Amino acid sequence: MQTKGELKDQSFRDRMSTIDDKGKRKWVYAQKPKGRFYKIRSYVSWGFFIIFFGLPFIYIDGRPLFLFNIPEAKFIIFGKVFWPQDFFIFGLTMITFIVFIILFTAAFGRLFCGWVCPQTIFMEMLFRKVEYLIEGDAAAQKILKRSPWTANKIFRKTTKHFAFFLLSFIIANFFLSYIIGVKQLAKIINDPLAAHFGGFSSIIIFSGVFYGVYAFFREQACTVVCPYGRLQGVLLDRNSMIVAYDYKRGEQRGKFRKGPAAVNFGDCIDCFQCVKVCPTGIDIRNGTQMECVACTACIDACDKMMKAVNRPTGLIRYASENGIANGKKLKYTGRMKFYTVLLFLLSGLLTILLLSRKDVDGTVIRAAGMLYQERGADSVSNLYNIKIINKTIKDIPLTLRLENASGRIIEAEGKTIAVPKEGQGKGSFFIVLPNNIINERKLKLQVGIYEGDKKITTLATNFMGPIYRGQKK
Ligand code: SF4
Ligand code: SF4
Repeated sequence: MQTKGELKDQSFRDRMSTIDDKGKRKWVYAQKPKGRFYKIRSYVSWGFFIIFFGLPFIYIDGRPLFLFNIPEAKFIIFGKVFWPQDFFIFGLTMITFIVFIILFTAAFGRLFCGWVCPQTIFMEMLFRKVEYLIEGDAAAQKILKRSPWTANKIFRKTTKHFAFFLLSFIIANFFLSYIIGVKQLAKIINDPLAAHFGGFSSIIIFSGVFYGVYAFFREQACTVVCPYGRLQGVLLDRNSMIVAYDYKRGEQRGKFRKGPAAVNFGDCIDCFQCVKVCPTGIDIRNGTQMECVACTACIDACDKMMKAVNRPTGLIRYASENGIANGKKLKYTGRMKFYTVLLFLLSGLLTILLLSRKDVDGTVIRAAGMLYQERGADSVSNLYNIKIINKTIKDIPLTLRLENASGRIIEAEGKTIAVPKEGQGKGSFFIVLPNNIINERKLKLQVGIYEGDKKITTLATNFMGPIYRGQKK
């Protein structure tokens, strides 16, 4: 839907900014941005690098703080191990996370993409900076591309690609350390190649993928592959915060001339600086576009031009489509406040879900195909199988106690079920109850699981007894 004064020509949406009329890739030579947002983003990227390269080294009780071992279906989040048995927590976490993303994007647009997405940070704050260092800014890169293969060109290109592969190799190692842990990674690096051929191959494959993405694929990862980017059309609405061009103020654009501004012209001096710095090669003046990763480079570029021609900054700024249409500045609206509260509630729910997970869990089930056994004239017993999962990193000897009835546990009582660390323990035992407390066909019982005198958890089961007169069935 178009608002009065909005740009009418939407034909740019028929093609991708990085593909020419013949369907060939148009390489984006993004000019190096300069300005307050770029400076803040650089600081944020340092924080990101410290976290990304530092987290794998943080261990709690011998376990990494985070591990996402997909091949072995083992995940460690904030030092807690999650197993396939915790699948429901994982499922709930995923649902909560998706709701979080939807709400966050509806309120704050692609803030994530521009500021903390690893793809953007590695591309713009690491690889692109290395490229500027070796090949120069956009104009120098274009000249180098067109120039013949002189010694200077060969040297610069080789140095750049060597640096890119080296950085990709380092990132791949750290990426792998999030999957297998930094200790296992150290073994792959230090042991003979034949001992960890699979692990070594993974490092090389990951390095190749990262190198391919940052050296060649680049912005296409955001505009063609990333599902989050592709969903912007449905996640954003006219009240979402986006990086937007104020067409009301900027149009009709025209080249800057000294002296009083021409009456029919707006503030945009058509200098194309916003286009030149854009890492996805788009013209933000055309309106909201799926390719925009909200990196703020065009805000910095335009602010610089506005200052140079003595006009107010903010021609391109964080705003909502409705805000631009109504000539209003971006405010922290009631809707954003409401979404923020919801986001906090969701984060709280996620934290509770993760922290409420038990370290030791299991099941007590009556042995299949067996009813009950009479023990003398005054007692009845049931046979049970117990399975215990130990999600901690220490072996735990466990004992069982009957919690809510005056019977006893035999076979396992006094003995222990050895449950190895990060493993499972099994056992069988009888629960014996005196006849006089069996007042139901199926009694609900609770079995306490103890490590020494410390109760670890309680497991529920039922006890099947004979039907006596006057008893509930
Ligand atoms: S339009 Fe602006 S904010 Fe969007 S990707 Fe390009 S430079 Fe970044
Ligand atoms: S940088 Fe600002 S003034 Fe220059 S073309 Fe872009 S919007 Fe217009």
